[in-house]
This record gives sequence, structure tokens and C-alpha cells, in this order.
Amino acid sequence: MTLLVDCGATSLVAMRQQGLDPAEVDAVVASHLHGDHFCGIPFLILQAERLEEPRKGPAQGRSRPRRGHRCPP
Ligand SMILES: [Zn+2]
Repeated sequence: MTLLVDCGATSLVAMRQQGLDPAEVDAVVASHLHGDHFCGIPFLILQAERLEEPRKGPAQGRSRPRRGHRCPP
């Protein structure tokens, strides 16, 4: 398990500079509620969502038909 202690707004940049992969983080602990310790968490989550493989199936798939798609009668 990889634990990240504090996640400031520049944590993703710093992790990359150190050769660390943000996708390897399993959990984040914020030591206290100052912005420089937790404001990077949304960026970490957005990064993880972007890297996540698209899921298939009707519940998680594309909800709107593609352009030019014809629905069966
Ligand atoms: Zn602080």
C-alpha cells in the first residue's frame, strides 16, 4: 500500500519531478486542514479518473447515442 502524507496543490508536479507515479498512491492522509496540505487531493483524484480505463457496459458506458446512430425500432 502506498500512502501519501499531505497533498498540496503542487504535489503532482513534485511527485513527477521525483520520478514518483501518482497512480501508485492508494490513500492520502492530510495532517491538518491547511490548503498547502490538502488542496492537491482534487487534482490527484482527477488524474486517477483520467488514467482509469474506460468501463464497458450499459450502466457505465456512453449514455447518449453517437452522432449518426440509429436506434432499433
Ligand atoms: Zn500547514
